Amino acid sequence: MKVITPDYFPQFTCIAAACPDTCCAGWEVVVDPAAEARYRALAAPLGDRLRAAMGEDGGDCVFTPREDGRCPFLNRDNLCDIQAELGEEALCRTCRLYPRFINDFGGVREMGLSLSCPEAARIILSAPSLPHFRMEDRPELPPDLNELDAGQYFAVKAVRDKVMALLSFGSLDERLALSLRLCRKAEKQLRKGAPEKAEALCAALHPEEDLKKERARAADRPPLSAGTVLRALEKCLILRDSWRARLKKAARPDGKLPPLDPSFERRVAELLSFRYLLKAAYDGRLSARMKFIAFSILSLRALGQGMDEKSLQTLVVNYSREVEHCEENMASLLQKFDGGGKFSSKAFAAQLLLPAVQLKG
Ligand code: SF4
Repeated sequence: MKVITPDYFPQFTCIAAACPDTCCAGWEVVVDPAAEARYRALAAPLGDRLRAAMGEDGGDCVFTPREDGRCPFLNRDNLCDIQAELGEEALCRTCRLYPRFINDFGGVREMGLSLSCPEAARIILSAPSLPHFRMEDRPELPPDLNELDAGQYFAVKAVRDKVMALLSFGSLDERLALSLRLCRKAEKQLRKGAPEKAEALCAALHPEEDLKKERARAADRPPLSAGTVLRALEKCLILRDSWRARLKKAARPDGKLPPLDPSFERRVAELLSFRYLLKAAYDGRLSARMKFIAFSILSLRALGQGMDEKSLQTLVVNYSREVEHCEENMASLLQKFDGGGKFSSKAFAAQLLLPAVQLKG
């Protein structure tokens, strides 16, 4: 397999007890079958604790958090009892991998770090420049056998790479609007079974002309407002009360959402593009995923006004935990973005492109 990773990837080491948060609280941990078999066969007393903690959810074996939200194996020093007793290799796949994510596409594996871990977020957000990506040959890893259509994969990859190039400089609002346009048009071609035409759109993109067209499309449309963005977040499953309180407290101006620190926004947008857009190689849903990326930037703007660098870092960690790491939330948001209405491409373009004075809620 070929493995692609951003250049900061090897810098990550879990800071364990020094972590300002912990990844071992607030969510269920899915236990993979190999770890489950090992835990079921383990001698007491740890074996008994493991067997008592394992439950079932939707066909998966899981560790259910305790009432206070903490993993049953997270001790008072915020260290893991399984790792302390049996070593890191005894952890289940979820815990061993976290905060790394893996996306497999046949003979290519893409890996990165998730923004939901404070240490990973620190590394990603404080990197001196946007990442370069490395490719390594790993013949010992067998290719992922799946239904991937090669034509669609190469078309979506071309679009994803073009989006990442667009987002790497210039006005982020304009670049997001251009990326939304490209993904929308490419998805239409994929639906028609013409991946080569979807790929050709990347070379045919003319930023100035295309922006003019997007501005015209959005001219008389109500923009996607802070209120709509926050209401969508409120309708998601919420893991922590502190997140609910933060959503409630946020101001909901009608007009344009003022951008945050450009370097912060660009790094978040780039990471989400790398992580999510290529998944459309499986289902063609480029537009909804690009809207998710723009929605994430708008959500952070709605919630992060006046915050310093450190607080923005904490905000994006919490956003990632609450939204990205919950399959139900991701599925329901993508479904919203598939449709038009309040989350139409014109509403996004109006928020991103029109000058503040022209915006009315
Ligand atoms: S959130 Fe990150 S740094 Fe903190 S304990 Fe988990 S993996 Fe380690």
